Amino acid sequence: MSAYTLPDLSYDPADLEPHLSARVVELHHDKHHAAYVNGANTALDQLDDARRNRRWADLPGLERSLAFNLGGHVLHSMYWTNLSPDGGGEPTGALRGAIDDTFEGFASFRDLFTNVTVSVQGSGWGILGWEPLGQRLVVQQLATHHDNHLLATVPLLAIDAWEHAYYLQYQNLRADYVTAVWNLIDWRDVSRRFERARSVAA
Ligand code: MN
Repeated sequence: MSAYTLPDLSYDPADLEPHLSARVVELHHDKHHAAYVNGANTALDQLDDARRNRRWADLPGLERSLAFNLGGHVLHSMYWTNLSPDGGGEPTGALRGAIDDTFEGFASFRDLFTNVTVSVQGSGWGILGWEPLGQRLVVQQLATHHDNHLLATVPLLAIDAWEHAYYLQYQNLRADYVTAVWNLIDWRDVSRRFERARSVAA
């Protein structure tokens, strides 16, 4: 039995237009995200096989494959639920307070997050996360799906900066894609993740 399955979208791909085209969302979810789900399941199967057959030389490659593919599955699952046809605007409540305290206002945070996401070298992600040791929000720039990760940080908001997330619609204009995605962010979802991360860490 497979450990991971591809979650359905909670909206129709066309519902995110005009900010993200239906075709971009369909390919991204049905092909790219699905490939990470399959890759994580395959890596787990191969790790079982290596353990049973004592093929220890395979471990570094398989562990790396698991980290890459499971990272992709986790981040895409978050990305789809961070977006909503009813998204946009600004966060409120405790999340807003923490953003204001940490980044000196929402506009300043959005500038930072946009530039972190736009300046990813190659393929990666911009992430807003909760860092439990310091009890603070952090903005992370991930390379691929896991490199550069701040170890205990719980991601709350993830924006995909891989070319497959935008190239069909925005070509090389990654900044235009990130600007458009701000109109889709479901701050209620990000706030729920923030409350859960803080309560677990406490
Ligand atoms: Mn992606």
